[in-house]
Amino acid sequence: MAIHLKSAGEIAKLREANLVVADVLDRLEEAAKPGVSTWELNEIAAQRLRQLRADSAFLNYGHPPYPAVLCTSVNEAVVHGVPRKDVILKEGDILSIDFGAFKDGWCGDSARTVPIGQVSKEARALIDATRESLERAIAACVPGNRLGDIGYAVQSHVERLGYSVVKQFVGHGIGRAMHEEPHVPNYGDAGKGRRLSAGLVVAIEPMVNAGGPEVVIEDDGWTAVTKDGSLSAHFEHSVAITDGGPVVLSRA
Ligand code: MG
Ligand code: MG
Repeated sequence: MAIHLKSAGEIAKLREANLVVADVLDRLEEAAKPGVSTWELNEIAAQRLRQLRADSAFLNYGHPPYPAVLCTSVNEAVVHGVPRKDVILKEGDILSIDFGAFKDGWCGDSARTVPIGQVSKEARALIDATRESLERAIAACVPGNRLGDIGYAVQSHVERLGYSVVKQFVGHGIGRAMHEEPHVPNYGDAGKGRRLSAGLVVAIEPMVNAGGPEVVIEDDGWTAVTKDGSLSAHFEHSVAITDGGPVVLSRA
């Protein structure tokens, strides 16, 4: 499948969609407190989407059709955690919130892992390492670099700290569709793979496990959890590669 490089005008539309996503994630981060259910967070996101006249990128996506506008992955859940009334956040949890929206036909996609109240030093360190790995990957998003430089930036950072990267799920191009070419793995070799060109827009999303990299899918058909039960963190930004360097579209 061909890669669609975006014009400055198209990148501006993607920026608008990603600002919707950032707005919603800010509200969810504020609301994510002990005693709140992940379903309540989904309702906050759905209401804000309506206010901003934007549409969910997640609702009814895939097979089985995804049943919510938000992914809420708690502790050992890696990604695609389905919001539930009976999943009540508690002090010490870590929550990965992933949100995607369409605005005027263009898609935004971003995720962050947040601590619920006070968390362990181990949980804090995993969150920090995952966020740092995304920042390193973003810094690699310059024309002339290669796709492998992005994955290498993530993998080398977190493995040095004793963590593992999930390989079963990867980042992606993003545009009029949520998932476009190319695949953007969180692992790879520096200097290898497709050359990065100005106009390429990618959603980079490291998923980092405190233990091993293996993931299993729960009976709901969506929620991915670490096989060994270890904690997992997830950060994602939609990033435009431009001649002026990386532009993080999903940062307010
Ligand atoms: Mg996402
Ligand atoms: Mg994504």
